[in-house]
Amino acid sequence: MNKIHEECGVFGVYASETCNVASMTYYALYALQHRGQDACGIVVNDGGVFTAKKDLGLVGDVFTKETLKSLGHGKLAVGHVFAGTKGSVNIANAQPLVVNHVKGSMAIAFNGNLINKNELRNKLELEGSIFHSTGDAEVIAYEIIKERLKSPSIEHALVGAMKQLKGAYCIVVMSPTKIVAARDPNGFRPLCYGKTEDGSYVVASESCALDAVGAKLVRDVKPGEVIVIDAMGVRSMADHCGTAPMTSCIFEFVYNARPDSVVDGYSVHEARVEMGKYLAKKYPVDADVVISVPDSGNDAAIGYARESGIPYELGFLKNKYVGRTFIFPDQKDREDQVRKKLNPISSVVNGKRVVMVDDSIVRGTTSGRVVKLLREAGATEVHFMVSSPPFLFPCYYGTDVPDKSMLIANQHTKEEIRQMIGVDSLCYLDLEDMKKIATMGGKNGFCYACFNGEYSTEIPSPTTNKYEVKINIEEKTKRHL
Ligand code: SF4
Repeated sequence: MNKIHEECGVFGVYASETCNVASMTYYALYALQHRGQDACGIVVNDGGVFTAKKDLGLVGDVFTKETLKSLGHGKLAVGHVFAGTKGSVNIANAQPLVVNHVKGSMAIAFNGNLINKNELRNKLELEGSIFHSTGDAEVIAYEIIKERLKSPSIEHALVGAMKQLKGAYCIVVMSPTKIVAARDPNGFRPLCYGKTEDGSYVVASESCALDAVGAKLVRDVKPGEVIVIDAMGVRSMADHCGTAPMTSCIFEFVYNARPDSVVDGYSVHEARVEMGKYLAKKYPVDADVVISVPDSGNDAAIGYARESGIPYELGFLKNKYVGRTFIFPDQKDREDQVRKKLNPISSVVNGKRVVMVDDSIVRGTTSGRVVKLLREAGATEVHFMVSSPPFLFPCYYGTDVPDKSMLIANQHTKEEIRQMIGVDSLCYLDLEDMKKIATMGGKNGFCYACFNGEYSTEIPSPTTNKYEVKINIEEKTKRHL
């Protein structure tokens, strides 16, 4: 559907007693499925014995009753959902990664993107490390192991390793006796922890995963913080807190996170409703109905309708059963994939002036097809409200915003895009309004780099790893076909 996709979700549990932590992790990963649909995995720890299952595919396909049973019971578990770029989707890159090192076993789940991965990997290779994957998790694992040899504990090793890591990351590490979780000093990606009634602690990318396992949100992990969960309870290590300005990803509020999640104290749903309200205040139109492009435009469309007084209606029926694995056998079918996923409800749009709300425009091709469907269903006017500013720059922090050349707003003016998509008017949320909405959650410090090009860290140097070079070239070539 030409949507931006996010990169991965992580989960860890330290249960109050030995129990079915595999099932708990399974439900949490189900709730985090939107963060990655390419692969998933669970590792259960029963008294220091690790049992792992990971594979390509959705949580519901990879884990059956039998596979969950085979993971056994334990007190600790870690889970992961993976979203990769084309060259990176293979079983070697699926997580959690289990590593046996001189001080014991460790399972690691990672979300984000290290901007200095290639430098670290090259150095590690020259020191003798042998890699089995192309992912960041293995680089981090080796950095932790190096530190572990001179550190008194796994948490000190992680704190030490973080000195080497640059970029966006949330890491959950499971040792034989602890769950240790870290958020990068900029706090690009969300991470929070919660507690169940029976005293089990869980840590997850989003609070919706806490809800799924019956845990109450305790708080977000602070940027740069490392939290340790073990038999003593939860404790915090703040060595890296305050070492960088907080720049959490605003796109979590636009699209990445689930609307029922609360990120850094701010309801994602409420933020999106505000985005719609701001659009309605700034860009009022005479129209009969407000609809959303489901599901990403739903909350902002509600906001637009509330502010404008124009009724909100269900304009499209989304076929829930068409997933990423749906096969489009030929080119014509591929072009028709939007129609197979979304069907306009003609009684809602026929003969109507329609306000259509979506979260963003990436390449513009999907938006054009969606508008065509509305016209065919009888809409007399289509006014397109986008609840984020135009994408102008790539993301280096774990959201798959593509190369500038693939971003329609980087290549064309707003008027050109309006004509290409075929709408009567096209309005984007202003960046300044987005900044106002962002601070309404009570926190300041967001990354807007894909909208304004102001990156809060150095950006990656051209790759120096020959394997990555090959993959990058292949991917870029494919994307230009
Ligand atoms: S560049 Fe955009 S998508 Fe990436 S972290 Fe910043 S706001 Fe989020």
